[in-house]
Amino acid sequence: MKARYSIIVPMYNEEEVIRHTYAKLKEVMDGYGEPYELVFINDGSKDRTVEIVEAICQQDANVRLINFSRNFGHQIAITAGMDYAQGDAIIIIDADLQDPPEVMLEMIAKWKEGYEVVYGKRLKRKGETVFKKLTAMMFYRTMRSLTNFDIPMDTGDFRLIDRKVCDVLRGLKEKNRFVRGLVSWVGFRQTMVEYVREERFAGETKYPLKKMINFAVDGITSFSYKPLKIASYIGFTLSATSFVYLLVVLCQRLFTSSTVAGWTTIVAINLLFNGIILMLLGLIGEYIGRIYDESKNRPLYIVREARGFSEEKEQAEK
Ligand code: UDP
Ligand code: MG
Repeated sequence: MKARYSIIVPMYNEEEVIRHTYAKLKEVMDGYGEPYELVFINDGSKDRTVEIVEAICQQDANVRLINFSRNFGHQIAITAGMDYAQGDAIIIIDADLQDPPEVMLEMIAKWKEGYEVVYGKRLKRKGETVFKKLTAMMFYRTMRSLTNFDIPMDTGDFRLIDRKVCDVLRGLKEKNRFVRGLVSWVGFRQTMVEYVREERFAGETKYPLKKMINFAVDGITSFSYKPLKIASYIGFTLSATSFVYLLVVLCQRLFTSSTVAGWTTIVAINLLFNGIILMLLGLIGEYIGRIYDESKNRPLYIVREARGFSEEKEQAEK
């Protein structure tokens, strides 16, 4: 029977938790009673994760395993899950039981009400370091101020998406994928359910500082080229202040005798050209930003449905 729900679980070195995660997901979904599949993605684990899931896969017809050749990263693992998922609703959940599986049922309920994206909003994050919470908070706020669309605060990748949304996301072929940003970007009817983020069931975080920074940079640079404009801002401010200073220097030269010969010219040239160079860099930044936008190849718009056309066209939309 075709699965109605696909649950995507990215895993990287999760041997300590994966059995529990499987048991818990199975318990919740069996209890719900509609057909489902669990899609585990092994993102190049170096421990026994894959052996464990292979064994599970042999016993349970609802379990699928995608085994990467090496570690490609969390966001790519989720993307692969979406490519393989067959359900009408797709749920992305972490392997470490930090996202409580029961919340999936609330998400499904919202989906049945007609929402196409249901994301989980973390009310609290248990058992995470102050550093992690602080950096996460800063990240979501920076992200929001730099991008022009509303990316929901304090949400992770724990969310449900409708088949339609999944298909649209699969069509976005950009390489540096920041999935939660893309999901916000595509629109559709979105809503949220709130939950308390639990402690990791076992093991430790697979996001060391380096991966966290890369993740943040991907997030910001995929959705904004404001950082490229920094050169223009600095250039502009510098030019303006240096113009004032230039006047001061000129006055000194003309009305006092305290300047060394040649000094005025050197200062003037320096200020002027540094300002110009930075402004031109900013200008180049604007063009690079536009090239970047084009190269991402995102569609200009996404249609939820089109009505009143001939049958064929409507079919094509679906
Ligand atoms: N993960 C992955 N590939 C990686 C890093 C992490 O597939 O390179 C998975 C990991 O197994 C987990 C999820 O991504 O299911 C979230 O990672 P983690 O719980 O370590 O992140 P945190 O909750 O600490 O932010
Ligand atoms: Mg975690």
